[in-house]
Amino acid sequence: MPRRSQTVNQDLYTRGGVITERDPEFVIVRLRLPAGMITPEQIRGLGAIAERHGIGHIHLTTRQTMEFTHVDPAKLEALVDDLEANGTPLGAEREEVVNVTACLGTRNCKFGIIDSVGLAAEIDKRFFGKELPVKVRIAISSCPNGCESERLNEIGITGIQRPIRDPGLCTGCGTCTHYCREKAIGVEDGVVILQQSKCMECGFCIKPCPFNLIRGTDPEYRITVGGHRGRHPKIGRHMIDVKTQEDVIRVVDKIIYWIYRQASTGSLLPEQLEELEFDEFRKTIAAMIEG
Ligand code: SF4
Ligand code: SF4
Ligand code: SF4
Repeated sequence: MPRRSQTVNQDLYTRGGVITERDPEFVIVRLRLPAGMITPEQIRGLGAIAERHGIGHIHLTTRQTMEFTHVDPAKLEALVDDLEANGTPLGAEREEVVNVTACLGTRNCKFGIIDSVGLAAEIDKRFFGKELPVKVRIAISSCPNGCESERLNEIGITGIQRPIRDPGLCTGCGTCTHYCREKAIGVEDGVVILQQSKCMECGFCIKPCPFNLIRGTDPEYRITVGGHRGRHPKIGRHMIDVKTQEDVIRVVDKIIYWIYRQASTGSLLPEQLEELEFDEFRKTIAAMIEG
């Protein structure tokens, strides 16, 4: 607790986006920036706000957000009001849903399969800041290249697309094979073959066929649960593949409710998966989507 506590807005001081610094007289103020998207106008606004409040540095975080350093807690209220007016409000950091991260996906990346930025905005709108027994990080990669390391988050979402071959007309030219980093697609006896077990479902081999003999399934969303970075990194476990953004929201809603009702504080979500009967929960989710 800072010595100036009599002048500090305690409601703000205890919010998740406000982090006590190494020097406990000061705090770090983290922002809410879903998918790390920010306009030039908002950046100019942040510069002006920093200058107005005497902030010397803004730090870029691993979760695609920014944090104002060395903030006097007595000035929190005015700072948070300014940040809100700038469209870059106070973020989250405690046992709650924190800043949702995403790659640029289909908006800008040639490998994109799903609109990861749009999905991050939707998830942020519905779930950001929800208080839970454990911290929940959500990350989205638009393709299996996994630039967001989404499987190292409590909830990870990956865009996938499966190739469908038409071997009957294949000339065996081999063009498609040069695009597969997994060596999952090849030519045998003059015909294209696919080893399903090696395929990452990245869809990279679909467009290059000069005869359009490889089609792609509709994009899907792969959801993983229980990943974690930090001290003991863990890869999330596969929960389900779904076909629409609406289904992603339904599944994320169920996962968050499950965590809310069943998880306990004091240990990370990945450490609780067995206790929470993850496999049973996964079956419930599959039945919900199929039904
Ligand atoms: S994960 Fe895929 S779509 Fe997203 S930035 Fe990386 S390569 Fe592009
Ligand atoms: S979808 Fe990706 S991993 Fe699968 S065969 Fe095509 S290029 Fe290879
Ligand atoms: S690029 Fe097309 S024609 Fe050539 S091997 Fe692949 S599927 Fe067959």
